[in-house]
Amino acid sequence: MNEELPILDNHMHLRGNGKGIKAAKEFSKAGGTHIVLVNLPSWTYGVNLTDPSNYKKPFDKCIAMSKEIDKKTDLNTYPVIGVHPAELTKWTEEGKSLEETFELMKKGLNLASEYIKEKKAIALGEIGRPHYPVSKEVMELSHELIRHSFRLANDNGFSVQLHTESMTKEDVIKLSKMINESGLDKSKVIKHFSNPIIDVYTQEGILPSIISKKENLKEAIKKGSRFLMETDYLDDPQRPGAVLGPKNVPKKTNWLLNQKIVNKEDLINIHKTIPEEAYGIKVNL
Ligand SMILES: [Zn+2]
Repeated sequence: MNEELPILDNHMHLRGNGKGIKAAKEFSKAGGTHIVLVNLPSWTYGVNLTDPSNYKKPFDKCIAMSKEIDKKTDLNTYPVIGVHPAELTKWTEEGKSLEETFELMKKGLNLASEYIKEKKAIALGEIGRPHYPVSKEVMELSHELIRHSFRLANDNGFSVQLHTESMTKEDVIKLSKMINESGLDKSKVIKHFSNPIIDVYTQEGILPSIISKKENLKEAIKKGSRFLMETDYLDDPQRPGAVLGPKNVPKKTNWLLNQKIVNKEDLINIHKTIPEEAYGIKVNL
């Protein structure tokens, strides 16, 4: 264990009816120090979407969980709040029209933006487009919501955590153009669940966040250390093994160091310098 090193998980979900704070304590015990905590889709919190103000619940729950962790542990937790891209599919399946769902989501994003302006959260996310096949219409509306999010971020000076399908080099270049058109600084876009094509992301200026599996990290580090690490821990009592468990960022960080795959400077970059620049926060021990 390296006592002087902050260890930050850039994308974690925790819920009251899951392991919640217990998972945060496991992360801490394994050597973790900082969590970027992202709210889950609205229905996870029992929301039945009828009004944009319904989005207060997922935002408030995420912020409350973050405060509770900071109070009960030595961890530093930062909420990231947003409207999940899967909401478009979910609420149309429940009988709403696409247009109505789109409008509610857009206003939900505006509400999240207000929260971030009030410093209740550090960034907007996760927002984006579905990672599963959808109709042309759904994809177009998702892109409209992404553009809206980029505008909000640019107008108000915050960053965005983006959820998409698994991206190829060509996809990253297309995304890069889209960000350019919005005027937003590309280093303010954090691509959650990135492939380890660090060279492409570095060239395009977008920040990749890498799922902390050994093979991903080994591949990523060959192309530099301009990335963040995450688990996307879902804290889902129905799917306890889904994605990665809460201890993986500290565990894999120590593994990287012990295997001499990275040096300490790389890790300071990944866990401190890059998140500080991405979110405008201070990552101290
Ligand atoms: Zn997520």
